[in-house]
Amino acid sequence: MKFVDEYRDTGLGRKLVERINRISTKPATMMEFCGGHTVAIMRHGIRQLFPSHIKLLSGPGCPVCVTAHHDLDQAIALVQTPGTIVTTFGDMMKVPGSESSLQQARADGADIRIVYSPHDSLEIARNNPRKLVVFLAVGFETTTPGVAATILEAERTKIENFCIKSLLKVCPPVIRALLNLGEVKLDGLICPGHVSAVIGSRPWEFIPEKYHIACAVTGFEPLDILLSIDRLVEQIEKGEPKVETTYTRGVRPEGNLRAQKLMEHVFEPCPAQWRGLGTVPASGLKPRAEYSSFDADIRIPVKVKAAVEPKGCLCGEILRGIKTPPDCGLFSIRCTPENPVGPCMVSSEGACAAYYQYGR
Ligand code: SF4
Repeated sequence: MKFVDEYRDTGLGRKLVERINRISTKPATMMEFCGGHTVAIMRHGIRQLFPSHIKLLSGPGCPVCVTAHHDLDQAIALVQTPGTIVTTFGDMMKVPGSESSLQQARADGADIRIVYSPHDSLEIARNNPRKLVVFLAVGFETTTPGVAATILEAERTKIENFCIKSLLKVCPPVIRALLNLGEVKLDGLICPGHVSAVIGSRPWEFIPEKYHIACAVTGFEPLDILLSIDRLVEQIEKGEPKVETTYTRGVRPEGNLRAQKLMEHVFEPCPAQWRGLGTVPASGLKPRAEYSSFDADIRIPVKVKAAVEPKGCLCGEILRGIKTPPDCGLFSIRCTPENPVGPCMVSSEGACAAYYQYGR
């Protein structure tokens, strides 16, 4: 299969691993920001290919995992508002909130429907004119253009019983916040591939410039990841950090200008709460004033009590890269994909789920 098989070539992979191990002399702690990269690294056993001075840490790049408890509680309160139908991606259903989950709320009678695209919500709205259909918009820059297009389509076709609960987030500000915390000393960063397909590779340039950290933007096949580690190790060895793209089949320096224009037309930046990192300025997106009729926070604001985080769960620390899933005392004992305690065990991109499936 084009663009897949050639990135799974075992012979090339072996040569890359040999080269990385040959050129690497300095300690190199690298973080893969994206949950998709964490899963690929675990699935292909990539961590085990290198000596102990090359370390790979997982970061906060799983949109479901970083959704704050408070936001999740608000979403659960929303579904209990009479006259609403809530639509969501399936990953959100099992994430435990302070007292319940969307799955539990549905079992208790709430009308929650799983969709595969934000656009599916419009059909549900058309078929239920007496109900307000609220799409739980969870995702990064990869998801946002589709949500923006859905809002524009709702406006164009005059669907007034549709809005979104925006939990959308943008990635560069949170990386800045993470690096400013200084809890983990990073030498390299594997930047997200799909996010960069939309925003381009340029937005990461502040990382080598300000923090002197090597950067590689890459895809999700094993050779993509090995190639990015190879580039990072070379930059670290030379002491010349910069942004390199090894995912040139998907990412251009300027990104997808049409998608960016769409996002900027419909959304504006706002502060957002990230699990483990608290409120990060300008890291969220909400509909602009002219699209406020599509903003659930304005149409049906809900109030919730202070969030209660699950006791013993280390998701926040794992998302900041200072702990790994096996450090959590609940991992694979009380917390499993069937009975998750925290979101990192629920999401298909969660570090705990990836360790559970491939790393035990
Ligand atoms: Fe949270 Fe479960 Fe992961 Fe522990 S194993 S950090 S409880 S999701």
